[in-house]
Amino acid sequence: MKSKKLLLLNTVDKRSVDDELFVPTNGLPGFEPISLGIIAALTPKNWDVELIDENFEDFTDTDAELVGISAYTTSINRAIDISNKLRKKGIKTIIGGKHACLYPEELVNLFDSVVEGEAESVWKEIISDFENKSLKKIYKGEFIDLSDYTRPNRDIFNKYNYEIATIQFSRGCVNNCDFCGVPVLYKHTYRQRKIENVIQELKEIKQKYVFFIDDTIYCDNKSNKKIKELFIEIRKSKVNKHIIVAASINIYEDDEFLDLAHKAGVKVLYIGFESENIEDLKNVNKRMNYKSSEFHYSQAVKKIHRYKMAIMGGFISGFENDTPDKIIKRGQYILKSDIDASTLTILTPLAKTPLFENLKAENLLLHTNFPQDWIYYNACNYTIDYKNDRAEIMNAFYSSSLNLVDCRNVRKKFLKTLLRTRSYTTAKALLVLVRNFHIGTQNCWIMKKLIK
Ligand code: SF4
Repeated sequence: MKSKKLLLLNTVDKRSVDDELFVPTNGLPGFEPISLGIIAALTPKNWDVELIDENFEDFTDTDAELVGISAYTTSINRAIDISNKLRKKGIKTIIGGKHACLYPEELVNLFDSVVEGEAESVWKEIISDFENKSLKKIYKGEFIDLSDYTRPNRDIFNKYNYEIATIQFSRGCVNNCDFCGVPVLYKHTYRQRKIENVIQELKEIKQKYVFFIDDTIYCDNKSNKKIKELFIEIRKSKVNKHIIVAASINIYEDDEFLDLAHKAGVKVLYIGFESENIEDLKNVNKRMNYKSSEFHYSQAVKKIHRYKMAIMGGFISGFENDTPDKIIKRGQYILKSDIDASTLTILTPLAKTPLFENLKAENLLLHTNFPQDWIYYNACNYTIDYKNDRAEIMNAFYSSSLNLVDCRNVRKKFLKTLLRTRSYTTAKALLVLVRNFHIGTQNCWIMKKLIK
């Protein structure tokens, strides 16, 4: 008989800022919230642990004594609403996740406790303090040594039948793109796990599809050496998974890396292209995309296809020099290119990034009534006052995005992926990825427009 109950809640804010503009961008919709699995694994055995993932069901109520809430910046208002409701009933709430790491002081009066930093290093203390009725307002978690990584308790994921499992080999990134929250969150550090621990975890995973949620799998020479060893060991282990990873464009320059990735079972690379325009890339410091003297996207894509891997490309619109015409052309460029699938978002100054801080200093942020206004910062709203015609820019963004998800275009791309990679399993892995990207987006504007 379990003595206490812990509810772990992955929040998604499904409200619209207006009827048109909304997509919940709570991390990776449809994918296992791995950090909550780790918290479950660290919780003493005499506790009953339940997960509610709002990508699949809305939280309504609980009989738990303690609720651990995970939120990104875009879902922080949902987390605050839930905390208010629970605290009125006397249930203790703890907030963790990216936003709590960045703005603990903003949340300290809205939850019983705030975890700033990595919860793994303080979770046992939190449970002990809760049992002794002495919860502190703030717990400062350290960056843990990933040699001591705790493998997640995957039992809590069973209720949702996630099609794609998630796993993590590293934390952080060696690059410094101005719009990205990763270097800010990890204070420009980069850490890797022990290979044998990762292999053990892969063996515990029952799904065929596995997403390495590392911010990028391709780093600098020193780090890449260990990633290559990881690929070799994955192949030797015969786990036979279909793997998806995020990588930077310069991966194409390393044939050995591509070959080992392919042999380990990597089927899809998610690559942030951001823009086909070098000026845009320079403006946001996306160095690896423009540092080569000639524009190299198409040769990168061709090379990756040669290793039977498909590419999902991330693109952005709403750069400082973007016009509606440029955004329409970006959509056409993506469609004509050999990139197999894509996402198109609006340039968003994520909390505490160089982009955010610069715009704030220049008084160019359109929404600054925080925490309420964090809801606008979801990569589908215009949040920067670039003095251009925002309505026209948004219309161009809608139009390009709708074109990219048009069924005929998706079908054409799928057939081309088959031809270029000569691999049905690769094309299928890409489709599975695309489908799961959209599980959490039933409320999003794109669906509304398509239904209309
Ligand atoms: S966008 Fe990618 S490459 Fe750039 S800092 Fe973020 S994780 Fe690193």
